[in-house]
Amino acid sequence: MALRPIITLPDPKLRLVSRKIERIDDLLSRLIDDMIETMHEAPGVGLAAIQVGEPIRVLVVDVAKKDEPPQPQVFVNPEIVWLSEERATYEEGCLSIPEYYAEVERPASVRARALDRDGKLREILAEGLLATVLQHEIDHLDGVLFIDHISKLKRDRVIKKFQKAAKRAGDGQHVL
Ligand SMILES: [Zn+2]
Repeated sequence: MALRPIITLPDPKLRLVSRKIERIDDLLSRLIDDMIETMHEAPGVGLAAIQVGEPIRVLVVDVAKKDEPPQPQVFVNPEIVWLSEERATYEEGCLSIPEYYAEVERPASVRARALDRDGKLREILAEGLLATVLQHEIDHLDGVLFIDHISKLKRDRVIKKFQKAAKRAGDGQHVL
């Protein structure tokens, strides 16, 4: 297993629509192991393959509490098949938009269908944090970021901030 570098704003790859996985092979299995390790190390509660630069429809999630043993879950080609009318608001962050948090309102529960890492089809009813994380991560597979769910004013501000930081880094200056 190995840690993979996480790409951040304004990397244009974050806007790619990831492609469906046709075959679960050793290469994919290794990527999944790396993604789980990278998510735990970050630490984060979810990670989509595109965040480590791979535009394929796979994500890993772990919503275990800090005092619980890790419980990584793998979703291959995930699809949301039902959304609740009831909505919930969480303060979200993203490993690809470091140190920025904003409240996002989404459906409170979702039913999702996906293959597990062995290629077995599973369907889960997700509520609470897991429902939010799944929607956030599946958005990544379609090139959508959580800042797309906040006001344009706030979104433009955070994008500009990251563009400036990237430019400074490119100019060889240190970001303090
Ligand atoms: Zn994210």
